[in-house]
Amino acid sequence: MKSHIFGRSTKGALPVATKGDGCYLIDADGRRYLDGSGGAAVSCLGHSNQAVRAALHAQIDQLAFAHTGFFTSDPAERLADRLIENAPAGIDRVYLVSGGSEAVEASIKLARQYFLEIGQPKRHRVIARRQSYHGNTLGALAAGGNAWRRTQFAPLLADTTHISPCYEYRDRQDGETQEAYGLRVANELETEILRLGPDTVMAFLAEPVVGATSGAVPAVPGYLKRIREICDQYGVLLILDEVMCGMGRTGKLFACTEDDVAPDMITIAKGLGAGYQPIGALLTSAAIYDAIAAGTGFFQHGHTYMGHAMAATAANAVLSEILDRDLLAHVTTQGDKLDAALKAQFGDHDNIGDIRGRGLFRGIELVADRSTKAPFDPSRGLAARIKKEAFAAGLICYPMSGTIDGQHGDHVLLAPPFIIEDAQIDELVGKLSTAIDKALAA
Ligand code: PMP
Repeated sequence: MKSHIFGRSTKGALPVATKGDGCYLIDADGRRYLDGSGGAAVSCLGHSNQAVRAALHAQIDQLAFAHTGFFTSDPAERLADRLIENAPAGIDRVYLVSGGSEAVEASIKLARQYFLEIGQPKRHRVIARRQSYHGNTLGALAAGGNAWRRTQFAPLLADTTHISPCYEYRDRQDGETQEAYGLRVANELETEILRLGPDTVMAFLAEPVVGATSGAVPAVPGYLKRIREICDQYGVLLILDEVMCGMGRTGKLFACTEDDVAPDMITIAKGLGAGYQPIGALLTSAAIYDAIAAGTGFFQHGHTYMGHAMAATAANAVLSEILDRDLLAHVTTQGDKLDAALKAQFGDHDNIGDIRGRGLFRGIELVADRSTKAPFDPSRGLAARIKKEAFAAGLICYPMSGTIDGQHGDHVLLAPPFIIEDAQIDELVGKLSTAIDKALAA
């Protein structure tokens, strides 16, 4: 039967998902799929969580939506309070939106308005990093440095410049210490600010642990601290995009606390609503909020569904589950087990060059040759094959072709639900191994 959905791909029919059950999704034919990537690092509580469902049922009987031009709501206020209670030092206000791209878009516009309010109108440039993804709306897409996603829209994109990512496996040179490497790549930010003119740069945007474009690549220790110093020296705002790596995915509610840096803004989404409702948020420092409050008193931005009561209710219930059930500790323990299982399975594999990540945010990178780190020829479509084989075996994972940027190998991103148990870790790694071997043999 013809589907009238205009979705991601016009090729091929998709199975119909009909039910969720913990770490599994079930389709209309009754097939079960282990959700090894939470979709795209979304379903951090797994599917059909009882507490979130109950909270949503109760809220829909009270209030679904009241426009933020007229009202605030209890769920939105409570969520903002709890996010701030748990946020890194200096973060003081929450701007609620409906997803990750909206949060990034808002951060860019807020940065611009902030500098207007404080009398620095020349500041308008964003510096980000190559091989990054910050969303698909035009502002967020412009900030991202993933050539494949940007190329055909290039004429529509604001002029953002990109420095190197912090990508130890690919870029640390022989004999270079981790610390020296981190400083070298962080210092590219200073060079770029000076090249553009410090009084024109408003923000540096980066993910603390890079997700979609690179496969769970954490910055080396010290990198983000040096980035913070450079931002401070030149009056540039530091925006950390935790849409994928935030909300406990790495074992910390905010990934950047592990790097011990205090950003000016943080974007979150995905795990915030855990898939139960679409929601994202921009968290911002008191200084930025105060500048708007002391100036025009109005952030020139907004969306109809911001602060949606049902979405905030879902996020509150998710946060309660994470904090009350001590799931962050479980993320760390199970993340270590997943890492160990991946290393046991793939540590000696001829075509796996790197296994990395933090918490339940892990990536493996495929290479044609381990000693040279040469990637596979993109024409093999290895990532797509792995995705297909894994899905056929009943595993959802998130492979991406790195070679589309010509800079790194295909990788597989893993981001299972925080509730994953040992047997499911074994199932995940076993099915992934079969899928990789089949894809390599094809
Ligand atoms: N930033 C990052 C780091 C992301 O991974 C994503 C989504 N993959 C986004 C922003 C965009 O979020 P959304 O798809 O919810 O708009």
